[in-house]
Amino acid sequence: MWTPIAEEAERATRVLHPHSLRLPRPTRRRVITVANQKGGVGKTTTTVNLAAGLALHGLKVLVIDLDPQGNASTALGVDHRSGTPSVYEVLIGELSLAEAAAVSNQTPNLLCVPATIDLAGAEIELVSMVARESRLKEALTSEALDQINPDYVFIDCPPSLGLLTVNAMVAAQEVLIPIQCEYYALEGLSQLLRNIELVQSHLNPVLNVSTILLTMYDGRTKLADQVTSEVRGHFGDLVLRTVIPRSVKVSEAPGFGQTVLTYDPGSRGAMSYLDAARELAERGAREEMS
Ligand code: ATP
Ligand code: MG
Repeated sequence: MWTPIAEEAERATRVLHPHSLRLPRPTRRRVITVANQKGGVGKTTTTVNLAAGLALHGLKVLVIDLDPQGNASTALGVDHRSGTPSVYEVLIGELSLAEAAAVSNQTPNLLCVPATIDLAGAEIELVSMVARESRLKEALTSEALDQINPDYVFIDCPPSLGLLTVNAMVAAQEVLIPIQCEYYALEGLSQLLRNIELVQSHLNPVLNVSTILLTMYDGRTKLADQVTSEVRGHFGDLVLRTVIPRSVKVSEAPGFGQTVLTYDPGSRGAMSYLDAARELAERGAREEMS
């Protein structure tokens, strides 16, 4: 039987000795879009930390930064000044995925296709392009992905339901929705789910909401618990058991061009994201067997 202290100790050992933890490799490549049109709910933080968690434990991971803010690129320590090969050139068909991907400074298993400010105009430019909703999907062919050969692809979306997010949904099999444990957390969620259904019925029938992650949980507030149980009541098993606590280390890490997993591996934030990464990997493996 695990006591809380033994559990903490076991978690710390895992973080500090990454090789002691083995995560199952999915039999098929998983392409996961991280979306929520609400701003600041933890999309980028979740994308980069789950990606780092999987990559530090031996899996190969590609992050596609699809937000002109370029926050995921920053956290992964990847250059995203204007003019850098980026997802913009990939969307307009000028560069292949492999040509635009850069290796993160955190582990060689982690690559990122960065977003530069050039992407800000793309939403408008895309409108007049052929197959405007499928530009990213067309760039993510098996051949293009085989050149990088990731086990996981995460796509970090901007806070809107515009064409960039639609491109991300058309290119993926799974949607992961981060939900912040705060008042109004569920606001806008029905609109997000409706959009996902529209993409399913018109553009990408295999798309499914596979995962919901509760973020920025503050144990001192009653509200956080109310939101948690409301979300679990609504979405049941889609919600990961792991809840990400609000933690200063998590918010500091991007300022150092890092994820919290490399910035402070022993912190609560790092351990929670690692737990969430493990759950995501293990669930994927379980579903493949069933
Ligand atoms: P946007 O909609 O602008 O893309 P987002 O949904 O990607 O935002 P993040 O950028 O990941 O959200 O997070 C919003 C802010 O909250 C950031 O400053 C981030 O550092 C901070 N933050 C995220 N998760 C945590 C956490 N667990 N603890 C403390 N701060 C956090
Ligand atoms: Mg973001």
